[in-house]
Amino acid sequence: MRPTVLCFSGLDPSGGAGLQADIEAIGQSGAHAAIACTALTVQNSQQVFSFEATPRELLLAQANAVVGDLPIRTVKSGMLGTTDNIAALADFLREHTEYSYVLDPVLVANSGGSLGDQATLVKAFIELIPLATIITPNTVELRALTGEQDIQVATAKLFEMGAKAILVKGGHEDTPDYIQNSLYMNGELVSETRCPRLAGEYHGSGCSLASFIAGRLAQGDALKTAVHHAETWLFGVLKNAESPVEGGQKMPKRFG
Ligand code: PLP
Repeated sequence: MRPTVLCFSGLDPSGGAGLQADIEAIGQSGAHAAIACTALTVQNSQQVFSFEATPRELLLAQANAVVGDLPIRTVKSGMLGTTDNIAALADFLREHTEYSYVLDPVLVANSGGSLGDQATLVKAFIELIPLATIITPNTVELRALTGEQDIQVATAKLFEMGAKAILVKGGHEDTPDYIQNSLYMNGELVSETRCPRLAGEYHGSGCSLASFIAGRLAQGDALKTAVHHAETWLFGVLKNAESPVEGGQKMPKRFG
Protein backbone atom coordinates (compact mmCIF):
# COMPACT_ATOMS: atom_id res chain seq x y z
CA MET A 1 0.00 0.00 0.00
CA ARG A 2 1.08 3.61 -0.66
CA PRO A 3 2.74 5.45 2.22
CA THR A 4 0.04 7.23 4.20
CA VAL A 5 -0.35 10.74 5.60
CA LEU A 6 -2.66 11.01 8.59
CA CYS A 7 -4.29 14.44 8.48
CA PHE A 8 -5.89 16.21 11.41
CA SER A 9 -8.17 18.58 9.52
CA GLY A 10 -11.67 20.00 9.33
CA LEU A 11 -14.51 19.50 6.86
CA ASP A 12 -15.19 22.43 4.52
CA PRO A 13 -18.49 21.81 2.67
CA SER A 14 -17.29 23.83 -0.33
CA GLY A 15 -14.56 21.26 -0.93
CA GLY A 16 -11.92 23.94 -1.50
CA ALA A 17 -10.06 23.74 1.80
CA GLY A 18 -9.75 21.43 4.78
CA LEU A 19 -9.82 17.67 4.57
CA GLN A 20 -10.92 17.55 0.93
CA ALA A 21 -7.95 19.71 -0.07
CA ASP A 22 -5.75 17.36 1.95
CA ILE A 23 -7.13 14.18 0.35
CA GLU A 24 -6.80 15.56 -3.18
CA ALA A 25 -3.32 17.06 -2.70
CA ILE A 26 -1.96 13.96 -0.99
CA GLY A 27 -3.48 11.75 -3.69
CA GLN A 28 -1.83 13.88 -6.36
CA SER A 29 1.51 13.65 -4.55
CA GLY A 30 1.34 9.86 -4.87
CA ALA A 31 0.57 9.02 -1.23
CA HIS A 32 -2.62 7.88 0.53
CA ALA A 33 -4.55 10.25 2.84
CA ALA A 34 -6.19 9.18 6.10
CA ILE A 35 -8.25 11.70 8.06
CA ALA A 36 -8.95 12.36 11.72
CA CYS A 37 -11.66 15.01 11.39
CA THR A 38 -11.12 17.88 13.83
CA ALA A 39 -14.25 19.90 13.12
CA LEU A 40 -17.30 20.32 10.92
CA THR A 41 -17.35 23.81 9.50
CA VAL A 42 -20.29 25.59 7.87
CA GLN A 43 -18.91 27.70 5.05
CA ASN A 44 -18.91 28.32 1.32
CA SER A 45 -16.47 29.92 -1.11
CA GLN A 46 -17.28 33.34 0.35
CA GLN A 47 -17.40 33.03 4.13
CA VAL A 48 -17.27 30.87 7.24
CA PHE A 49 -20.59 30.84 9.13
CA SER A 50 -19.77 28.58 12.09
CA PHE A 51 -18.06 25.37 13.13
CA GLU A 52 -18.38 22.58 15.68
CA ALA A 53 -15.15 20.98 16.89
CA THR A 54 -14.80 17.22 17.35
CA PRO A 55 -14.53 16.20 21.02
CA ARG A 56 -10.96 15.28 22.01
CA GLU A 57 -11.70 11.60 22.74
CA LEU A 58 -13.44 11.10 19.40
CA LEU A 59 -10.59 12.81 17.55
CA LEU A 60 -8.00 10.55 19.18
CA ALA A 61 -10.16 7.47 18.61
CA GLN A 62 -10.24 8.26 14.85
CA ALA A 63 -6.46 8.63 14.73
CA ASN A 64 -5.74 5.57 16.85
CA ALA A 65 -8.09 3.43 14.75
CA VAL A 66 -5.75 3.72 11.74
CA VAL A 67 -2.42 3.50 13.59
CA GLY A 68 -1.02 0.04 12.88
CA ASP A 69 -3.71 -0.45 10.27
CA LEU A 70 -2.28 1.82 7.55
CA PRO A 71 1.38 2.51 6.69
CA ILE A 72 1.42 5.99 8.24
CA ARG A 73 4.68 7.86 7.66
CA THR A 74 3.66 11.46 8.18
CA VAL A 75 1.11 13.49 10.13
CA LYS A 76 -0.26 16.76 8.77
CA SER A 77 -2.44 19.19 10.70
CA GLY A 78 -4.60 22.03 9.47
CA MET A 79 -7.60 23.47 11.30
CA LEU A 80 -7.62 22.11 14.86
CA GLY A 81 -10.35 24.39 16.22
CA THR A 82 -9.81 24.09 19.98
CA THR A 83 -6.96 24.02 22.48
CA ASP A 84 -8.22 20.59 23.57
CA ASN A 85 -7.66 19.24 20.07
CA ILE A 86 -4.22 20.84 19.86
CA ALA A 87 -3.24 19.20 23.16
CA ALA A 88 -4.65 15.87 21.97
CA LEU A 89 -2.56 16.05 18.79
CA ALA A 90 0.55 16.94 20.84
CA ASP A 91 -0.03 13.85 23.02
CA PHE A 92 -0.51 11.70 19.90
CA LEU A 93 2.71 12.99 18.28
CA ARG A 94 4.75 12.42 21.45
CA GLU A 95 3.60 8.80 21.33
CA HIS A 96 4.53 8.51 17.64
CA THR A 97 7.90 10.17 17.17
CA GLU A 98 8.45 7.82 14.21
CA TYR A 99 6.16 10.02 12.07
CA SER A 100 7.34 13.18 10.36
CA TYR A 101 4.92 16.03 11.00
CA VAL A 102 3.82 19.00 8.86
CA LEU A 103 2.21 21.76 10.93
CA ASP A 104 0.07 24.22 8.95
CA PRO A 105 -0.77 26.68 11.74
CA VAL A 106 -4.28 27.58 10.59
CA LEU A 107 -5.75 30.46 12.58
CA VAL A 108 -8.31 32.04 10.27
CA ALA A 109 -9.77 31.17 6.89
CA ASN A 110 -8.48 33.08 3.87
CA SER A 111 -11.98 34.59 3.61
CA GLY A 112 -11.34 36.09 7.07
CA GLY A 113 -13.79 33.80 8.90
CA SER A 114 -13.02 32.43 12.37
CA LEU A 115 -11.81 28.85 12.68
CA GLY A 116 -11.30 29.16 16.44
CA ASP A 117 -10.36 31.75 19.04
CA GLN A 118 -7.12 33.15 17.65
CA ALA A 119 -5.49 34.21 20.94
CA THR A 120 -6.03 30.83 22.62
CA LEU A 121 -5.00 28.89 19.51
CA VAL A 122 -1.75 30.87 19.27
CA LYS A 123 -0.86 29.97 22.88
CA ALA A 124 -1.73 26.31 22.36
CA PHE A 125 0.31 26.03 19.14
CA ILE A 126 3.46 26.60 21.25
CA GLU A 127 3.23 22.93 22.27
CA LEU A 128 3.16 21.71 18.66
CA ILE A 129 6.00 23.83 17.28
CA PRO A 130 8.92 21.69 18.59
CA LEU A 131 7.18 18.51 17.39
CA ALA A 132 7.02 19.60 13.75
CA THR A 133 9.39 18.55 10.97
CA ILE A 134 8.27 21.71 9.17
CA ILE A 135 5.87 24.58 9.94
CA THR A 136 4.18 26.33 7.01
CA PRO A 137 2.89 29.73 8.21
CA ASN A 138 1.87 32.58 5.96
CA THR A 139 3.26 35.88 7.18
CA VAL A 140 0.03 36.73 9.05
CA GLU A 141 0.27 33.46 11.00
CA LEU A 142 4.03 33.90 11.52
CA ARG A 143 3.47 37.34 13.08
CA ALA A 144 0.57 36.07 15.22
CA LEU A 145 2.55 33.05 16.49
CA THR A 146 5.60 35.10 17.46
CA GLY A 147 4.20 38.54 18.27
CA GLU A 148 6.91 40.00 16.01
CA GLN A 149 6.20 42.17 12.96
CA ASP A 150 9.54 41.93 11.18
CA ILE A 151 9.73 38.69 9.19
CA GLN A 152 13.40 38.00 9.95
CA VAL A 153 12.90 38.64 13.68
CA ALA A 154 9.70 36.56 13.71
CA THR A 155 11.41 33.64 11.94
CA ALA A 156 14.31 33.74 14.41
CA LYS A 157 11.81 33.76 17.27
CA LEU A 158 9.97 30.73 15.88
CA PHE A 159 13.31 28.85 15.84
CA GLU A 160 13.84 29.92 19.47
CA MET A 161 10.40 28.42 20.18
CA GLY A 162 11.69 25.06 18.93
CA ALA A 163 10.97 25.05 15.19
CA LYS A 164 13.22 22.82 13.07
CA ALA A 165 12.21 24.09 9.63
CA ILE A 166 9.88 26.85 8.47
CA LEU A 167 8.35 27.61 5.08
CA VAL A 168 7.31 31.28 5.22
CA LYS A 169 4.63 31.86 2.57
CA GLY A 170 4.61 35.38 1.18
CA GLY A 171 1.12 35.54 -0.35
CA HIS A 172 -0.07 38.18 2.13
CA GLU A 173 2.92 40.47 1.55
CA ASP A 174 2.72 43.60 -0.58
CA THR A 175 4.47 42.24 -3.67
CA PRO A 176 1.97 42.95 -6.48
CA ASP A 177 3.79 41.00 -9.20
CA TYR A 178 5.07 37.93 -7.39
CA ILE A 179 4.81 35.73 -4.31
CA GLN A 180 8.01 34.75 -2.57
CA ASN A 181 8.27 31.74 -0.26
CA SER A 182 11.32 31.34 1.98
CA LEU A 183 12.48 28.00 3.37
CA TYR A 184 14.52 28.01 6.56
CA MET A 185 16.13 24.94 8.12
CA ASN A 186 17.85 24.88 11.49
CA GLY A 187 17.79 28.67 11.68
CA GLU A 188 19.28 29.22 8.20
CA LEU A 189 17.64 30.45 5.01
CA VAL A 190 18.10 27.60 2.52
CA SER A 191 16.02 28.73 -0.45
CA GLU A 192 13.77 31.46 -1.77
CA THR A 193 11.35 30.73 -4.58
CA ARG A 194 9.24 33.20 -6.52
CA CYS A 195 6.21 32.65 -8.70
CA PRO A 196 4.10 35.24 -10.53
CA ARG A 197 1.16 36.48 -8.40
CA LEU A 198 -2.07 35.14 -9.88
CA ALA A 199 -5.13 37.40 -9.77
CA GLY A 200 -7.84 36.71 -7.19
CA GLU A 201 -8.24 34.85 -3.91
CA TYR A 202 -7.94 31.09 -3.58
CA HIS A 203 -9.69 28.78 -1.14
CA GLY A 204 -7.53 26.08 0.38
CA SER A 205 -4.19 26.99 -1.17
CA GLY A 206 -2.36 26.69 2.17
CA CYS A 207 -3.97 23.32 2.96
CA SER A 208 -3.05 22.02 -0.49
CA LEU A 209 0.59 23.09 -0.26
CA ALA A 210 1.18 21.68 3.24
CA SER A 211 -0.53 18.41 2.33
CA PHE A 212 1.46 17.94 -0.86
CA ILE A 213 4.67 18.48 1.17
CA ALA A 214 3.44 15.86 3.66
CA GLY A 215 2.66 13.44 0.83
CA ARG A 216 6.15 13.78 -0.63
CA LEU A 217 7.77 13.43 2.81
CA ALA A 218 5.77 10.25 3.38
CA GLN A 219 7.28 8.90 0.14
CA GLY A 220 10.82 9.64 1.24
CA ASP A 221 11.64 13.01 -0.35
CA ALA A 222 14.16 15.20 1.45
CA LEU A 223 12.45 18.24 2.95
CA LYS A 224 13.75 20.81 0.46
CA THR A 225 12.80 18.57 -2.49
CA ALA A 226 9.31 18.00 -1.03
CA VAL A 227 8.77 21.75 -0.65
CA HIS A 228 9.90 22.53 -4.20
CA HIS A 229 7.74 19.76 -5.68
CA ALA A 230 4.77 21.12 -3.75
CA GLU A 231 5.34 24.74 -4.83
CA THR A 232 5.54 23.76 -8.50
CA TRP A 233 2.41 21.60 -8.24
CA LEU A 234 0.43 24.28 -6.36
CA PHE A 235 1.16 26.95 -8.96
CA GLY A 236 -0.35 24.65 -11.61
CA VAL A 237 -3.53 23.95 -9.66
CA LEU A 238 -4.04 27.63 -8.83
CA LYS A 239 -3.55 28.61 -12.47
CA ASN A 240 -6.39 26.20 -13.34
CA ALA A 241 -8.62 27.25 -10.41
CA GLU A 242 -12.36 27.69 -11.04
CA SER A 243 -14.57 30.57 -9.88
CA PRO A 244 -17.87 29.38 -8.35
CA VAL A 245 -19.72 32.72 -8.04
CA GLU A 246 -18.98 36.43 -8.32
CA GLY A 247 -17.07 37.37 -5.16
CA GLY A 248 -16.36 33.77 -4.15
CA GLN A 249 -12.82 32.56 -3.70
CA LYS A 250 -11.48 30.41 -6.51
CA MET A 251 -11.39 26.65 -6.07
CA PRO A 252 -8.01 25.10 -6.86
CA LYS A 253 -8.41 22.39 -9.51
CA ARG A 254 -6.32 19.61 -8.01
CA PHE A 255 -7.21 17.03 -10.66
CA GLY A 256 -6.58 16.96 -14.38
N1 PLP B 1 -9.15 24.06 7.22
C1 PLP B 1 -10.45 24.30 7.07
C2 PLP B 1 -11.46 23.30 7.53
C3 PLP B 1 -10.84 25.48 6.49
O1 PLP B 1 -12.14 25.68 6.37
C4 PLP B 1 -9.88 26.42 6.06
C5 PLP B 1 -10.28 27.65 5.41
O2 PLP B 1 -11.40 27.90 5.10
C6 PLP B 1 -8.54 26.13 6.22
C7 PLP B 1 -8.23 24.93 6.80
C8 PLP B 1 -7.45 27.04 5.76
O3 PLP B 1 -7.53 27.24 4.41
P1 PLP B 1 -6.36 27.88 3.56
O4 PLP B 1 -5.63 26.78 2.89
O5 PLP B 1 -7.12 28.70 2.56
O6 PLP B 1 -5.51 28.66 4.48
